[in-house]
Amino acid sequence: MDAIDRWQPDVRRIKELEAQIEVLNTLLDTREKLVEAIPECKEHGAGCVPHAIEWVEKAKELEAESANLRGLLERARPYLLYHRALMFPDKSPDDSLPISSLIAAIEAALSEQEE
Ligand SMILES: [Zn+2]
Repeated sequence: MDAIDRWQPDVRRIKELEAQIEVLNTLLDTREKLVEAIPECKEHGAGCVPHAIEWVEKAKELEAESANLRGLLERARPYLLYHRALMFPDKSPDDSLPISSLIAAIEAALSEQEE
């Protein structure tokens, strides 16, 4: 084997490294987009990683809370439909109504009764 052969580029290794670099670039792009989406740290300005981590954790907590709330509202749906049926006996029950409009209808009916 002559000396030149030993300096031949290892094409397979280079392709591996290129693939790894591509993954890293994608991760960096994602990270940058995430950091841009997060409000600036009051102490350290934009791009503060501990602040970003804290913000993401809070966002996750809020998302979990929202999921709980959505679950709760879904469980409340039959109750709301029942009350709607009591308040508006002339209207046929509509299961497809969003909960928010059910609540609004019930609130409107209650405020009419109060007047
Ligand atoms: Zn900070």
